Amino acid sequence: IITASGLTKSFGATAALRGIDLEVARGEVVAVMGPSGSGKSTLIHCLAGVLAPDTGSVAVDGTELTALSADARARFRLERIGFVFQFGQLLPDLTAVENVALPLLMAGARRRDANERSLQWLDRLDLADQAGKSPGDMSGGQAQRVAIARALAPQPSVVFADEPTGSLDSVAAENVLTAMLDVVRESGTTVVLITHDARTAAHADREVIVRDGLLSGTAPVGAR
Ligand code: ATP
Ligand code: MG
Repeated sequence: IITASGLTKSFGATAALRGIDLEVARGEVVAVMGPSGSGKSTLIHCLAGVLAPDTGSVAVDGTELTALSADARARFRLERIGFVFQFGQLLPDLTAVENVALPLLMAGARRRDANERSLQWLDRLDLADQAGKSPGDMSGGQAQRVAIARALAPQPSVVFADEPTGSLDSVAAENVLTAMLDVVRESGTTVVLITHDARTAAHADREVIVRDGLLSGTAPVGAR
């Protein structure tokens, strides 16, 4: 579902990506590991169409992102790509259900329908009882699950997650990750997940390692 080849990206004198080729199959869960500053976030930003690479090409679900205008890429992102960050970036003045409904409303859903679907996604992430709360009144793990529900609700082709459990303690991280992967596997969503944690990566189908802007290894989990 993702085909990237020859990706390079520099920021001034810093070569963040130096030639990356990567294929991700539909429904696959790929963990991206590697040292701090190695280019992991830059890589997924290029794969998600957030950043344009300097050279190389990225196709997601048959659409060549690198051939689109910035506007068309932004629209593609809105419709087909989900993102989860280390800190969920929920809107603090909205309730959980309103946060999840937001991208659905932006995509043109009617309010009633958006609310109903949002409640279903919250329920799938075991948050039915948190729907009316604002993010500030939840635990970190609950708020991250709301962010995950928000990313999944529009049923994107691919979800990118940049250390989605990085701000949580290990028990909460494990719970959030398990909840996310259960839902993801059930819905057949493709996920590319950055993590520093080998235990998190062990939940993926495959892990790739970025070092100095290059892929230095790729292995099915369990084959290490
Ligand atoms: P971490 O694990 O710490 O999040 P990372 O592997 O995600 O690291 P990137 O954020 O991709 O690393 O950064 C790769 C390199 O590119 C680093 O040297 C970083 O300083 C540089 N870099 C990333 N974004 C920018 C930017 N917007 N402007 C300048 N340099 C940048
Ligand atoms: Mg990063």
